This record gives sequence, structure tokens and C-alpha cells, in this order.
Amino acid sequence: MTETWLGIDIGGTSTRLLTLQGDDGWAGFRKLPTAGWATAPDALAALAELIAAAQAERPIAGVMLGLPGILSRDRRQVVSLPFIQALDGIPVAANLSEMIGAPVAMDKDVNHLMLWDLLQLDTLPDNAVGFYLGTGMGNSLWLNGQFYHGEHGGSGEVGHIPWADNDCPCPCGNQGCAETITSGSWLSHWAHEHYPTLPISQLFSRHGAHPALQQFVSRLAKVIASEMNILDPEYLILGGGVLAMADFPLAQLHREIARHLRPPVTRGGLKIINSHATDHTGCRGACLAAARYFRRA
Ligand SMILES: [Zn+2]
Repeated sequence: MTETWLGIDIGGTSTRLLTLQGDDGWAGFRKLPTAGWATAPDALAALAELIAAAQAERPIAGVMLGLPGILSRDRRQVVSLPFIQALDGIPVAANLSEMIGAPVAMDKDVNHLMLWDLLQLDTLPDNAVGFYLGTGMGNSLWLNGQFYHGEHGGSGEVGHIPWADNDCPCPCGNQGCAETITSGSWLSHWAHEHYPTLPISQLFSRHGAHPALQQFVSRLAKVIASEMNILDPEYLILGGGVLAMADFPLAQLHREIARHLRPPVTRGGLKIINSHATDHTGCRGACLAAARYFRRA
């Protein structure tokens, strides 16, 4: 019998579920507010109920969770989820697996976006880096043909490199992180302050030439180029809600990144591509990650 995998993409705002049967049998997409289960007295039991609803439709061979935060190196335990504190310090994969009677694995949500994007390429590269700019700066590292998680699960936190002359407090607890001035959070703050009545979706269409927004793009290019000069990957994949905003100056971002790349090899060789993520991409990637993970296990 063809196995069915369940991918769950858990974001600060929405939780999305989707199943994959065989190679391309996508079914059962659901999107609901994360707060609906994450603020329940027993958040994990509430999440297990959502999974049970999917199991009632068809037997699930394995579940892959994508989470927006730091997981332990073995990815069995949540270390720090700034938006869903109910799961901090809990061995989520083991506990959930016991509740639903099926194997559960997890990874950072950006790695699932990145896996989807990587699988759209003709062949899987050896080295690629993903930047998904949303509320925070999502960063995925695919090195030597696999995701790199770091010694303690803390890799790919490029948003938390220190930025000179910046003392803004960061949700991570430090001060002066790049993300505090180069993220969707900063952008919505700035927009609210300067154009309080303008829908933020029109910010770049109406005010893209504003020096403060030009500087925002320049800062972003510097952060990204720094990581490119350290890792020298074959591909840089750019995505996330901020870059998908109407009239976001993507061509300018590409040019400014290239300007800071170390010549000759990194500047000449790096291929920059734009992710075409949709509402389904995170949970599609999670389903594909489940198939890869559990078939190998
Ligand atoms: Zn930080």
C-alpha cells in the first residue's frame, strides 16, 4: 500500500496541514489559527487532536512538523519558539508520537520551504542557502547535500549577527541584532509610524524610493552577502512574505548583494533565484521531508 505522510507547518499566526500519498497525491489542506491550539491548557494534546482528524481520513505513516524557532540538534526537543512558548523545553516529537500512535519528526520551518524550492531545481545542488524574509529572517543552510543544523541546533540564525551602532532590543534577548532593523517586523513598525493609514501591502508601490526603504534593502543585501562570502554556495534562494510584497525591489536587492560578493569566484558563480512560495509550500515541503526522513529511518 502507498504510504501517506502528514506535513504540518506551524507559524506564529497560522498552522497548515496537508497529506501526501505516493509521490504527488496532495490532499486534506487545512489552515487554522495557531493560537486556536497553542493557547489551549494542554497545547500538545490540542495539536494531537488536529492530527487525529487527519488520521480519521486515512492512516498516516509519519508526521513532520515545521516549527519557527530553535530545536535541539537531534530535532526531538523544542529549545526556543518565541511565538509558541507552550512548547519550550518539551520533547515534542516523542510526546506527540505517543499521543497519536505514529512516528513524528520535526525541523525548522524554513528547511521545509527550502526543501520544496531545492526539489524544483533540475538536480539537487551540493550547497545552497535560503533566505526567507518574513516577520523574522528565516535562514536555511543546505551544505554538502544535507541540511546543516549546527552543534547545538542553533545554525542559520544570521538575523542575530550584531549590527554596528544598533542597540534595538531583539526578541531573542540580545541587543543590536541585524534582524531588529532588517525584517518584516521593522518594516511594519516603520510603515505604521510614517504612513499609518496606508495598507502595508502598498508600501513599496507607493514609497519604494524613500531613503529609509532604500537603506532597508541595502542592509538586507549586506547581511545576505556576508553569509554568501562565508559559505560560497552554488545557489541563493530568496523568498518570504516581505520579498513577495508588490513592487519590492528584487532586482536592486540582487544587484546590491552581487556588489558585496567577493570577486572573482563567489561574485561570478553564485546563482540567485527567487522562491515562488505559496500558502501550501511549507506543508508540502514538510510532507516531502517526512517521506525522505521516514523512508530512510
Ligand atoms: Zn536577536
